[in-house]
Amino acid sequence: MLELRPNCECCDRDLPPESPAARICSFECTFCADCAEGVLAGRCPNCSGELVRRPVRPADRLARFPAATGRKLKLGGCTAT
Ligand SMILES: [Zn+2]
Ligand SMILES: [Zn+2]
Repeated sequence: MLELRPNCECCDRDLPPESPAARICSFECTFCADCAEGVLAGRCPNCSGELVRRPVRPADRLARFPAATGRKLKLGGCTAT
């Protein structure tokens, strides 16, 4: 099951499960749209994979399959390459 992480790994912005601004890579590294399309230029800084829009989990499924709560933050933030 897709891990819905609660924040952007670059800027620590909150990304709730219903947020249309969440972006993920195939390893579920999670970023906001501003970082993904800005400083990261569409590539995950951890695995170089593609960042795509995270699908929104329907609210009626969230009760049974809740979003992750552990916040991940990249040490030193993200820098353009
Ligand atoms: Zn961000
Ligand atoms: Zn990644």
